[in-house]
This record gives sequence, C-alpha cells and structure tokens, in this order.
Amino acid sequence: MRRALFPASFNPIHRGHCDIAERASHLFDEVVLGVFSNPAKSFVFPQEQRVDLARQALAHVENITVQPYGGLTVDFAKEIGAIVIVRGLRVFSDFELEFRMALANNRLAPDIEIVCLMAREQHMHLASSTIVEIASLGGDISSMVPKPVEEALLAYFDKMGHDEP
Ligand code: ADP
Repeated sequence: MRRALFPASFNPIHRGHCDIAERASHLFDEVVLGVFSNPAKSFVFPQEQRVDLARQALAHVENITVQPYGGLTVDFAKEIGAIVIVRGLRVFSDFELEFRMALANNRLAPDIEIVCLMAREQHMHLASSTIVEIASLGGDISSMVPKPVEEALLAYFDKMGHDEP
C-alpha cells in the first residue's frame, strides 16, 4: 500500500489543489489530504470547515481521504504511514520554499520522499489568498474553486458585510 500525504492549510481548497490531489491519486494507492492548523496562524475558515470543504471537493475520488492535523508534517506522515509527501509547484518562487521545506523534512525524516507535481498551466495563477481577496471584493471565483467553496466564501463575506456597523 503506497500512501501519500498532501499537506497544506487549504485556506480554502481551490482547483489547483484539487488537480494536484487528483493527479497524485493516480500515482499512489491512497492519498491523504492533511489539513493543517496552527493556533498562531489565522485562517479564513476554521480547520473543521476547511476539512469539510476539502471532503466535498474531492468526494468523487475514491482513494482520497481528508484529515485534520497540527504539529510537524513529517510526524503526521509517519502517524498515517505515508511514504511520500506530495506538493505542487506553481511558479519559480514556489521552488525555493518547496526546496527548503523538502530539505528540512528530509533531515527530520529521511525515509519519507518529497514529490512535487508541476501545476497545470490553467491553474498556475491560483492561490487561496488571491481567491479570498477576489471574493471579498465581489469578484467571480466560480472558475477557481469547487461550488461548495464558492458558496462558503460568498456566505462568509455576506455575513461580514452584514456584521459591519
Ligand atoms: P500552504 O500555505 O498551506 O502551503 P498553499 O495553498 O500556498 O498553502 O500551498 C499548498 C501546496 O499546494 C503547495 O505545495 C503549493 O505549491 C500547492 N499549490 C497551491 N496552489 C496551487 C496551484 N494553483 N496549482 C498547483 N499547486 C498549487
């Protein structure tokens, strides 16, 4: 059983993440999406909701499961028996960060391989922070995120609008 872990904040999950997860699901027997949370970091959605949105977005892929985690990614990878950590690479600027993280994770857990899948051209520009910003300004994000994420972001900013004094 070759199990891979795709770890990220998924804040929130978008079509670029889904593409990496789906392609990884063809390469490995099982892919676990690890939804990271850290009390020191602020997220648009709480971890439970980010997990729920990721589950809805990838429900059609049989060998993908979604789990929350905190702490070191390599510790979670060991806990679930993953032999590989999967990440995506969008643009050159991702490379430095991914390479640095891969070296650090490799030092911590030499038995776990890091595999980076190149982003598809049509998803290269997608980033959670950009999508959240577009949604906050009332822009159309329907081509960037799965339907449940679009609805959750619309509800979030609608509520924020109503909560303002
Ligand atoms: P985090 O801050 O939790 O790392 P990101 O969304 O920035 O969250 O990135 C998580 C992983 O998903 C990274 O490996 C990143 O390169 C990858 N990723 C993010 N956006 C895309 C995209 N549009 N296409 C492919 N991979 C992506």
